Amino acid sequence: MVPMNLMKNRKAGYILTGQWAKKAFAEAKIYGEAVELASSADKTFTYIPDCSDLPITEDMDYVYICENNTIYGTKYHQLPDTKGKILVSDQSSCFLSEPVDVTKYGIIYAGVQKNVGPAGTVIVIIREDLISDDVLPGTPTMLKYKTHADNDSLYNTPPCYGIYICGKVFKWLLKTGGLEKRKEINEAKAKILYDFLDQSKLFKGTVEKDSRSMMNVPFVTGDKELDAKFIEEAKAAGFENLKGHRTVGGMRASIYNAMPTEGVEKLVAFMKKFEEENAR
Ligand SMILES: *Cc1c(COP(=O)(O)O)cnc(C)c1O
Repeated sequence: MVPMNLMKNRKAGYILTGQWAKKAFAEAKIYGEAVELASSADKTFTYIPDCSDLPITEDMDYVYICENNTIYGTKYHQLPDTKGKILVSDQSSCFLSEPVDVTKYGIIYAGVQKNVGPAGTVIVIIREDLISDDVLPGTPTMLKYKTHADNDSLYNTPPCYGIYICGKVFKWLLKTGGLEKRKEINEAKAKILYDFLDQSKLFKGTVEKDSRSMMNVPFVTGDKELDAKFIEEAKAAGFENLKGHRTVGGMRASIYNAMPTEGVEKLVAFMKKFEEENAR
């Protein structure tokens, strides 16, 4: 939808920080010239590239980023200098984890299934002047942002149950102190795990410190067999989904809003015990 609605000059810049960015980049190429502005593929996407002086040209319609890279555990701690171009951000895995200045973006989009609700709903925050009928020829009515904006997201029957649950989560967020408080909780929660990783003799975080995500924390022991043993024992102890994405291996703790601080404390206690038992 992003290229269909925004790629009026048929040219856009993409920053490649992982699989979702690569997929968005490949999709944009169907509609025009998608230019790789920067990439962290050289080190298996373990960092966010320097985006202070990107080769952005006057004719580019927008600049795309994937703000939190779910699989690799990286996050932009500073937005790229887009040289005045519209910033499009996939915030699927960091949406509502902290306050965001929406005025810095042209489009923010997020699949709700990481931090807000059940799979099947996507939230789009779009600058009003970008909602228009001036879309690429052949764009289906359903894939125009204007169709959804004009119809209060009720052009067709929307995923009602998903939206209902999102509403419940919004109320819960507001009732528990809003996004300022959520940020505080999430920072403290992630710090427990990162502090442990930074001093551990067995486990090691895989991401460069200035690119670390608050939501997804990948780590390894450096030994594939030991990683497998950890995942197996963790599962037996009740810790689910700690296996890293199949493309990167190792472990990954996804500590979204729904994960209480106590869950991270218990994970760290388990990791300490595992470290003692497997000291070499
Ligand atoms: C999970 C995820 C997606 C994909 O969401 P789907 O609804 O499965 O297509 C896209 N971007 C990011 C950053 C994600 O974490």
